[in-house]
Amino acid sequence: MIYSFAAADLRKQEFITMLDQLGIDYELSEHNHTVVRVLGRITPEVREQLHNRGFDHASLTLQRPGERGCYDLLCDRSRLNVIAGPCAVEDEAQLAAVAEFLHRCDVRFLRGGAYKPRTQVDSFQGLGVNGLKLLRAQADRFGMFVVTEVMDRSQIDTVAEYADVLQVGSRNMFNYTLLTALGSINKPILLKRGMAATIREWLAAAEYISRGGNNAIILCERGVRTFEPEIAHTLDLAAIILAQQQSSYPVIADASHAAGRADLVAPLALAAVAAGADGIMIEVHPEPATALSDARQALTLAQFAALLERAQALFQNRRAQ
Ligand code: PEP
Ligand code: MN
Repeated sequence: MIYSFAAADLRKQEFITMLDQLGIDYELSEHNHTVVRVLGRITPEVREQLHNRGFDHASLTLQRPGERGCYDLLCDRSRLNVIAGPCAVEDEAQLAAVAEFLHRCDVRFLRGGAYKPRTQVDSFQGLGVNGLKLLRAQADRFGMFVVTEVMDRSQIDTVAEYADVLQVGSRNMFNYTLLTALGSINKPILLKRGMAATIREWLAAAEYISRGGNNAIILCERGVRTFEPEIAHTLDLAAIILAQQQSSYPVIADASHAAGRADLVAPLALAAVAAGADGIMIEVHPEPATALSDARQALTLAQFAALLERAQALFQNRRAQ
């Protein structure tokens, strides 16, 4: 059970005191507002006591439009959402080159990992807060929005200080403690599909965020694990369509992590647009061969520009039909 309270809601303390008195444990997340995830058993007696004090439902503090930052832009179905940038922020020169180029292409969302979930412990782990600062600085140069991953609850305040959209990575889609905590901030959450998650599990994960009062969610299909070794993951086009049917959130496709190889990124991204995706996420690097992470799947700036032109044309064509 998740309950949420506005920062100024005095009933929050009453609720917490009551849980303490009942000996029920809970997990508290306090960012923009307060989210309480009740960890104890809600027996009929407890339910009655909550009822008698007026705590029947999670008291949702849904974000007002003005508090959701760029979310309205992401929900604008008259335009194709494009989120692009390097896998990881590596240094100022790398990010500046990408940001400047993306700005010239009219891309509004700059991505880049500052905290990287790497398979190998000795791989580059990201620049951390220094990466966040570079993202903010480069995005501000061009009036862009920052999309970056938050890997753990302990990073939420830091990431939210610099980012406009917080990304939950595929490996963390099942991290219910993190998802619950993200319900208490007033920034959009880009929720990637777990690489072995069903559509139902993906949408259920989104509910952990929305129940806390943050329904500014973007779903991102990034490919699922299959038996095929030649591609990293298999982009699930049907999942994009079904996620749109079964939720009201924008659904975008990350063609880069699905493909795992540069030559498949453009065709997969175009297939997703043709299938009706609300946007695409693409990894771009000024010099892919030197990338510190996901080098094989990064597009050059020129390859990205060519893809973007085709994706926009396809999107316009789709809208005209
Ligand atoms: C990423 O977008 O940088 C990333 C790590 O993707 P995923 O979580 O989909 O693997
Ligand atoms: Mn990557």
